[in-house]
Amino acid sequence: MKKAGALVALIAGIFATIAALITLFVGGIGSAFYAHGSNTVIGLGWGGILFSFITIIASAVALGAKSTKPAITLICSAGLGIFLGGTLVALFMVLSMVGGIINLLAVKKELPAVSSVGKRPLTSASTSTNFCTECGAKSTSSSAFCSECGAKIK
Ligand SMILES: [Zn+2]
Repeated sequence: MKKAGALVALIAGIFATIAALITLFVGGIGSAFYAHGSNTVIGLGWGGILFSFITIIASAVALGAKSTKPAITLICSAGLGIFLGGTLVALFMVLSMVGGIINLLAVKKELPAVSSVGKRPLTSASTSTNFCTECGAKSTSSSAFCSECGAKIK
């Protein structure tokens, strides 16, 4: 799910870049014919390209990430892209944001699993050494009787 989320965000980011280029192109045509309001469209196009690029980079990093940072960067840039990228870019940025959230949740699920793996050698090490139930002396697992008091070791 971690890679699937990042992959969705990555593909959506690429589409958002194309959408931003279309927005720029439409803005360019608008400025040639009408001029009115086209500067805002051009601004939206550049904003869309900028945040699409950040989204693509963040989702590429998130593909193999072990921390939640790339996913958070991804969600933030997608969020800004929704507001600053124009309607067309926002459509793909929403998809990218969903991918980022899926990635974030998957990475968060993985994190406690990684820390429990690190604890395992400690428990296996404690079972190999026995302590005498009579005097508490440490004994090796190979000996059947305590070397200190001679009591039988279970
Ligand atoms: Zn003993």
